[in-house]
Amino acid sequence: MNRPSLLVSACLFGNTCRYNESCVAFKDSLWIEKQYTLIKVCPEQLGGLPTPRNPAEILTSRVVDAQGNDLTEAFVLGAERALAVARASGCTTALLMDRSPSCGYHQIYDGTFSGTLIEGSGIFAQLLKKNGFTIYTPTTVTALLSDMHVPGSEPL
Ligand code: SF4
Repeated sequence: MNRPSLLVSACLFGNTCRYNESCVAFKDSLWIEKQYTLIKVCPEQLGGLPTPRNPAEILTSRVVDAQGNDLTEAFVLGAERALAVARASGCTTALLMDRSPSCGYHQIYDGTFSGTLIEGSGIFAQLLKKNGFTIYTPTTVTALLSDMHVPGSEPL
């Protein structure tokens, strides 16, 4: 039986693509990898940004780094390229990394680089939402099983 495709933030599944060249210790990665065909994307790398890179946050509608550089264009380009990958793979559901200026969903940093969280979504998450994707995060990941009705699936 073919496994359903799931679009994921690559840093949740071992890719060291975060700004500081790390990945995320994601405790649910094993059972998800067994249930889904993962389509891994890093919108920031797809937008041409290097790794490692300066951390960035969204300030009003722009993406800036702590040095004040405006990275909006690269973030938008990367989001569009990642959406194209998702479409080519037939994905309609995504599991995205929390709080990122690209992948964050419902909660991001406020653009002051002070660790302050506000309501809002990253550039890629906004684009996916506009295009009808269902979005999960590590916080809401257990809902994936019930919502996608994967036969016989159980978290490990
Ligand atoms: Fe992870 Fe998304 Fe940031 Fe890439 S852009 S490092 S996939 S959170």
